[in-house]
Amino acid sequence: MNRAKHAAMLGLFLGWFCSGCGKNADPSDSGQTCGTCGGALIQRVDDDQRVVLERLKVYTNSTKPVLEYYRGRPTFRVVNGAQPPDRVARDLDAVIDDAAMEKAEQ
Ligand SMILES: [Zn+2]
Repeated sequence: MNRAKHAAMLGLFLGWFCSGCGKNADPSDSGQTCGTCGGALIQRVDDDQRVVLERLKVYTNSTKPVLEYYRGRPTFRVVNGAQPPDRVARDLDAVIDDAAMEKAEQ
């Protein structure tokens, strides 16, 4: 995952809320203050987001070195997991066939 993508993901997970009335807020709509009470907006990290941040940390520390290790192999393939499940399954089928053919040709 590159740096820009990482930052974009964090932006999705870190919501804003009002320190005055607790309402969810979008700082791009209202500047840095709450549209309802004028309170200051602060960023929320809830338990779910903590889990996501922890997973990103695990990805960086554990998954990425493994990925880099396998990336050099001739049968290594990349599938976009951010698609609908049936398309991910179809892509998986395709890359497995492709990798199997590559292996057979060696
Ligand atoms: Zn407010």
